[in-house]
Amino acid sequence: MVVGEGLVFLAILLIGIYITRRSFNKEFALARQQKNFLLSITHEFKSPLAAVKLNLQTLQKRELEKEQRTSIIAKALNETERIHNLIENALLAARIESHSFQMHVEEFNVTDCISSTIQSRIIPGAELKNIELDLEENLYMKGDALAISSLILNLLENAEKYTHDKSSVSISLKQVKKNLIIEVSDHGIGISDLEKTKIFEKFYRVGNEDTRNTKGTGLGLFIVKHIVDFHHGSIEVLDNLPNGTIFKVILPVE
Ligand code: ADP
Repeated sequence: MVVGEGLVFLAILLIGIYITRRSFNKEFALARQQKNFLLSITHEFKSPLAAVKLNLQTLQKRELEKEQRTSIIAKALNETERIHNLIENALLAARIESHSFQMHVEEFNVTDCISSTIQSRIIPGAELKNIELDLEENLYMKGDALAISSLILNLLENAEKYTHDKSSVSISLKQVKKNLIIEVSDHGIGISDLEKTKIFEKFYRVGNEDTRNTKGTGLGLFIVKHIVDFHHGSIEVLDNLPNGTIFKVILPVE
C-alpha cells in the first residue's frame, strides 16, 4: 500500500518535472529566437540604410561617368528594395499574428502575377541571379494576388540568398487538374531533413546567429506558410539533387 502510493507520487512528480522542463525549454527557445530576431532586424535595417547613404554621398561628392552613376544608383535602389521588403514582411507578420490579415479574393492571372513580380525586381545595372522561367500561359486562380506575389518574392529571395555560386534559380508554374503547382528551385546550400520541419516557424533560422553571414529575420517562410494556408493549399520542401532545394506550392484554383 505504502509502496503503491509512493510509486504514484513518484510518477506524478516525474510527470510534473517533465512538463515543467518542456515548457521551460519552449519559453527559452522562443526568448532566444526573439533576441535573434531583434538582433537581425536591427542589422537588417542598418546595413542597407548605410549602403544607401554611402551611395548617395558618393554621388554628391564625386563627378562620375554615366556608367558609374547608373551602377551606384542601381545599388542604392537595390538596397531600398530590401528595406521595403523587410517592412512589408514585418507588417504582414504582425497582421497574421493579430489575426487582422485579410485577403482580397478575386480571380486573377497567376502567370501574369509571377511575371510582374519578377519584373518589378529588375533594376538596370544591378547584379541579380539569372532566373529561369517555365510558366504555363494564362493560368487563373481565385485568391489574393498581392499575397501570392509576396509568397513568390519570399521564396525567390531565399533561393537567391542561399545560393552562393552563380547557378541560376528557376520558377515553374503549371496546372494539374484543379490545382496550380508552383516550384521555386535552386542549386544552393540545401536544407537538412531535420531543419525542413522547423523552417516555417516564426523567427526560425538555420544555424547560429553569431556565425551566420546571410541576411534575414526568419519571417519569410512563416509568412509563406500562412499565405498557403489561407488559400487552402500546401507546401513541400524537397531536395534538388545533387544539391539545392525545391519549394513546391500546391494551390487550388478555386
Ligand atoms: P530568413 O529571413 O532567415 O531567410 P525565412 O523564414 O525565409 O527566414 O527562412 C528560414 C530559414 O530557412 C532560413 O534562415 C534558412 O536557414 C532556411 N532556408 C530558407 N530557404 C532556403 C533555401 N532556398 N535554401 C537553403 N536554406 C533555406
